[in-house]
Amino acid sequence: MKWYQLDVKGTLSKLNAGEQGLNSSEASRRLSEYGPNSLPEEARISKLKILIHQFANPLIYILMAAAVVTTVLKDYIDTGVIAGVLVLNAIIGFIQEFRAETSVRALRAMTVTKARVLRDGIEKEIDSRGLVPGDVVMLASGDKVPAEMRLFGVNELNIEEAMLTGESLPVEKTIKPIAEDDLTYGDQTNIAFMGTMVVRGRGKGVVVGTGLKTALGRIAKDVKELSITKNPLQEKIERFAHFIGALSIGGAAVIFALGMALGFKAAEMFKTAVAVTVATVPEGLPIVVTVTMAIGLNRMARRNAIIRKLHAVETLGSTTVICSDKTGTLTKNEMTVRLIHDGRKAYEVEGTGYETGGNILHEGNRADISELKDLQDVLRIGLLCNESEIYEEEGRFKVKGDPTEGALIVSAMKAGLDPEKERDAYPQVSVIPFESDRGYMATLHSHGSKKLIFIKGTPENVVGMCTECMLEGELRKKEILKASEAFASEGMRVLAMGYKEAPAGSEALTHDDIKEGVKFAGLQGMIDPPRPESIEAIKGCKAAGIRVVMITGDHAVTAGAIGRQIGITGDDAKVITGKELAVMGDGELYERVADVSIFARVAPEHKLRIVQQLMKRGEIVAVTGDGVNDAPALKAAHIGVAMGRSGTDVAKEAADMVVVDDNFASIFSAVEEGRIVFDNLRKVVVFLIPTGFAALISIGISMILGLPAPYLPAQLLWINLVTNGLQDVALGFEPGEKDIIRRRPRPPKEGIMSRLMLERSVLVGALISAGVVFNYLAAIKDGGDIANARTTAVTTMVFFQFFQAWNSRSETISVFKIPLLSNPFLFYSMIASFFAQLTFIYVPAMQWVFKTVPLTAAEWGRIALVSLSVIVVVELDKAVRSRLSRAR
Ligand code: ADP
Ligand code: MG
Repeated sequence: MKWYQLDVKGTLSKLNAGEQGLNSSEASRRLSEYGPNSLPEEARISKLKILIHQFANPLIYILMAAAVVTTVLKDYIDTGVIAGVLVLNAIIGFIQEFRAETSVRALRAMTVTKARVLRDGIEKEIDSRGLVPGDVVMLASGDKVPAEMRLFGVNELNIEEAMLTGESLPVEKTIKPIAEDDLTYGDQTNIAFMGTMVVRGRGKGVVVGTGLKTALGRIAKDVKELSITKNPLQEKIERFAHFIGALSIGGAAVIFALGMALGFKAAEMFKTAVAVTVATVPEGLPIVVTVTMAIGLNRMARRNAIIRKLHAVETLGSTTVICSDKTGTLTKNEMTVRLIHDGRKAYEVEGTGYETGGNILHEGNRADISELKDLQDVLRIGLLCNESEIYEEEGRFKVKGDPTEGALIVSAMKAGLDPEKERDAYPQVSVIPFESDRGYMATLHSHGSKKLIFIKGTPENVVGMCTECMLEGELRKKEILKASEAFASEGMRVLAMGYKEAPAGSEALTHDDIKEGVKFAGLQGMIDPPRPESIEAIKGCKAAGIRVVMITGDHAVTAGAIGRQIGITGDDAKVITGKELAVMGDGELYERVADVSIFARVAPEHKLRIVQQLMKRGEIVAVTGDGVNDAPALKAAHIGVAMGRSGTDVAKEAADMVVVDDNFASIFSAVEEGRIVFDNLRKVVVFLIPTGFAALISIGISMILGLPAPYLPAQLLWINLVTNGLQDVALGFEPGEKDIIRRRPRPPKEGIMSRLMLERSVLVGALISAGVVFNYLAAIKDGGDIANARTTAVTTMVFFQFFQAWNSRSETISVFKIPLLSNPFLFYSMIASFFAQLTFIYVPAMQWVFKTVPLTAAEWGRIALVSLSVIVVVELDKAVRSRLSRAR
């Protein structure tokens, strides 16, 4: 017998379980028997692949060729140096890349799936890896099914199983056994498969298989090892590096030809050409990108934003519009009912948060609830037409479920209604859960011999269901809506309550049951205070040239009031509602999105249209979302942002980034970090390019002057290793310049090299070449031998690079205005390189390998003075440019 052929009873008895689930000791016993509910080695990175990756580089091939040539020429010292560079390069690259990869993956694993399960008879949320056969699990729209389940309770449960069946239309699930044999997954409608997505409704089922013993597990058994992650930014930089590489190979060829023409030895020239290539090719760049990205990702994670798709890191920095949900993202989602309308009179409610203390007042006096039947009805419907709960933890009241519903429980409790007693007096028989795009919820209750339907939802919806709303029909409807608008104008979220008697025999509820004939009971208005951080972040967005667009299901008046409170709009807020959107063509919407920043009463599907039109306008759009229906917009936008707490699995899966604390401010932080990542990569480029080319140019000039090259091939390799190996990576740790968040968003098409960077690279490259040649000539003129002159040249080069690294900390800001230790990595890498350079000059073994000699005090002085010039010149350049840009 297959699971889908068994009836519920048979399934449960076969699993030795009950509808009330397992107790925790049985669950942990089964966990040790069946093992965790996970697919093993989902995300293992192959160390070997990363190691191989270190050698998959044209530069390395050149070096290998050079090693062969030097061996043939019996220059064993040079062979040794080249081998050393190869090995060191591979080790440094491997360590950096491996660590970066591991941390990127660790971050992504942080968004684990949770499951709602019955344990010891209580509903709990656990890590889905802890599920065992026999567990009873609840499903709701937006959940990823956490294990293989035989369903025994469904309420409009629709599951999308494309990953298993290829069928993108969701399947409506059932609970009856199916007699046939050999069913495909798609036909097993009473089974929910692990990894599939609940797109609608609610369901309940018992776990029949976990981990590898599921349909997904059987597919995933041969998990592939993941290869190295690549993203557009990395590819862009790699292309850039290849371009520079081609240039430097060309340059090396010119040097070689020049040397031959001038009568240098071919073998010598070949080695020099190879060394030049090594010195100029920014081979560290791709690794620096990986590392800089990883640093950025970690910083973002510390600021509560987890990147799921790496391209987002780059795009974030260019964001021009953030479309944000209101409830829970811009506001705290801590709802407190403040005003109640029972259809006749308005009442105020005291108290804050979910604390159940507080009175209900009418015109300042305590209202006697027991006398006020209408008021009781509004509160009772709010309390019972409800799927959430209020509980006490550490002396504080908290909500399990939807905060909106929690607030309604609290207001009822303030009036003295006891949730337990009320639930006993009106047992719930059936539910139509709240869905944003419907805008209402209904429950069926039995009360004595009667059956009652309770409804709550947006005032428009509930009033629309009322035939004779209160007393006199139409006119009253308008008054109710007016009262609700008065509540909303204070920024309150307003819900209306209604009820209807149902036939005594009814067991289930359909949408048709409440189309009409509903009696209006009243309104409740709740405040949801803005997050103080979001007010700050919105100010920050404005300064950063980013527009914030609020999208909410709340009433236009509520949305407008909150929009003003948090500074999205001024007093003349323009608002577009879902109703207007529904009849608006894309062309008109395209015009309107240019300046409307508030969208109210919109259903999630409208979000997609708003995002699409913004993107059409050339905006770089980030959009937030949490529900199933938000997924298309999250996918379509440049950056889809899912909420970590309130977000469903479906939304998280579709998103590029997950905000752990649901906070708008965290999105803004991520934008800032995204800008820093790109900025730091540019710093690395400004450091690597001119110093690399200076090596090439200085050799060319020397040769034209009729002198031997100022560096031996081994020495060039040394320069490359000492300076590039550490300092370029250290620049990736730069903390971000102070004004980074006051700049305009970076045009996404803009390449790595800006005009300023190009000009500065030429300036610095020329200066370094001149400086090195100057010191080299001076040493020769002083009568030193060639070893002495070369030691001077190499050391000058190394010091130039030290200082250029400092210069690269900002394109515009004076290096003296940046705290020395704000990037400790750079500081310490500099000290390390300095001592390395001392060993290079003074340690006998190094002298033997690199043909260096000790330097005199005068030579040291000259080196220091000449190399410092790069600071002076770049400082002048920065000062002149900032003067010019201010004058403009
Ligand atoms: P938001 O996008 O701001 O979260 P929703 O779509 O959740 O907006 O809510 C829109 C409207 O639906 C609210 O203004 C309220 O009137 C109503 N509403 C919200 N939550 C519920 C609920 N749990 N039950 C019934 N009605 C609700
Ligand atoms: Mg909501």
